[in-house]
Parts: sequence; structure tokens; C-alpha cells
Amino acid sequence: MDYQSILEDIDAQVRPLLGREGRVASYIPALARVSPHRFGIALRTCDGEEAAAGDATTPFSIQSMSKVFTLTLAIRGLGEALWQRIGREPSGSPFNSLVQLETERGIPRNPFINAGAIAVADRLLSQGADAKAHVLEMLSGLCREPVHIDAEVAQSEADTGFRNTALANFMRGFGTLDNEPARVLDVYFNQCAIAMNCLQVARAAGYLCRDGAHPYDGTAVISETQARRVNALMLTCGTYDAAGEFAFRIGLPCKSGVGGGIVAVLPDRLSLCVWSPALDPTGNSLLGRMALELFVARTGLSVF
Ligand code: GLU
Repeated sequence: MDYQSILEDIDAQVRPLLGREGRVASYIPALARVSPHRFGIALRTCDGEEAAAGDATTPFSIQSMSKVFTLTLAIRGLGEALWQRIGREPSGSPFNSLVQLETERGIPRNPFINAGAIAVADRLLSQGADAKAHVLEMLSGLCREPVHIDAEVAQSEADTGFRNTALANFMRGFGTLDNEPARVLDVYFNQCAIAMNCLQVARAAGYLCRDGAHPYDGTAVISETQARRVNALMLTCGTYDAAGEFAFRIGLPCKSGVGGGIVAVLPDRLSLCVWSPALDPTGNSLLGRMALELFVARTGLSVF
């Protein structure tokens, strides 16, 4: 398949629509300044072939896409014990909702809503290592390029993260978190503020289409079963409360972030990342989603 011309065609179709619809996330001030006139798309196949188009090498804030990688680290460190404090069901509620946590006694529905990712960050802290450094090291090792945290975005998140602070305190009250909320949130805000480009994300997610094997050296990042589970969670819970719609229209495990990125995986074939900052009302990249629809329509690739 000529992936390079497919991605270039998608770029050509999407580019005239930039800036027309959708809104850049504004609740984190540093994100509100990002231009909506950006679109990038990149993929890497399991055999190492790569293709990219548009702004595929422009760094952006990976935001909740980081949750895939912190989950991977936590699963690797804790195995099944991780699920004692975190569920595996779609939430059907907004990603920063407090309501469900109250009725479900402080156990987040899944690791991809904010509460769940904060609980994962707590687990990483309890594993002892410097959690922030650990995440950066993992991502740099996976995409074979240095990856850094955008300090301005991290500060902006910390300054305005009142709901996330509420979620962390609430879970600490229920005993879901072992560590002080401020320390846990520091990990969470910083992981969300990591800057990467589409090509780097597509490379980094390569282990998810290779049964858990590192995209470059083939060593086990996680086991085959664990990789399958991360993919299952991405399909059912990875795109906020639009996960059903994503499965219906696209049919690939995906994880989105409010920076406008979406990472998608087709097991045994490829990993892909698309980025366009303007979001739809569910918090997913509007043109990113459209680009994924175009990609599956054009290639016929999907898990179904
Ligand atoms: N840092 C964002 C928040 O916690 C991440 C949200 C997202 O990308 O879904 O609100």
C-alpha cells in the first residue's frame, strides 16, 4: 500500500477545512494560544516503513495521549494488581467528571479519564522511581529521539487544574491514592505537558501494533496479552464519551488528547498519529477524527 500518497491525499482534503469549525481547548491557557490552522499525520508500520504529511514534525502537547504510556508503565510494573483501584469500563461521562467517582466510592471507571490517569500516576510514584523521568525515558527510548516536557504548559495546567485537584483529593479521601495529591498531580500535569510530534508518537506507539515488542529493537515493552488489553481499553475508553462513535465510524483503538492529537493502532499492521488542535464538543480533534475516517475508508483497514 502506498501510505505516503494516502497521507498526502488526506492532508490535501483536510487542509482547506482548517480553522472553519471546532475550537482549540481554552481551559488550559497555554493551549488556547495554539493555532487551529495546523494538521499533521504520520504512521509507522510494524515492518518499520514510515509515512508523514502536513505538520507531522511540529511538536504539540500530547495531553491525554500520555495516558497510554503511563498505563503501559504501570501495567508493566504492577501487572494485575493495577486493577484493584482502577476499573476498565467506559465512563460515558466527561473526562473530568466528579459525579461517577462519588457513587463508585473513589474507584475511577478506567485509566483514560482524568481520575483514572491520576490514579495511575499515583501507582507510578509508589513504584519508587522518579515517575516524570521514567515516562520521558520510556518515550525517548520508544521513538529514539529526545522528548521533553513543555514547562509553560505544565505550569499552566497546575495553575488552572482545579478540577483535577478536586479529583485527586477526593480519591485520596477514599484511599485510592497512596501519595500526597500535590505530588501525584505534579506527575500528571507534567505527563500531559509532554511535547511530541506526530511522527514521534506514531513511532512510540509501535509496540501496541507489535504485540508489545519495542518498535525498533523488538524487546518486550509489555507482554502480548498486556498490549492487547491496552488496545482494548483504547477502543472502549480512549476518546472520552465519543468512544462508541469512534468505534462505529473508525474501528481502531484510539486515544485522543485535548491538544488535538489522536494516536491510533491497527494491531499487526501499523500505528498512526494525527494532530489538529481544533476540538469537537466531545474534546476530540475534529479534523483528526475526519482524517482517521478518510484513512480507514481509503485503506479498508480496521479491526472489524
Ligand atoms: N491535562 C488535561 C486535563 O487534565 C488533559 C485532558 C485531556 O487531554 O483529555 O484536563
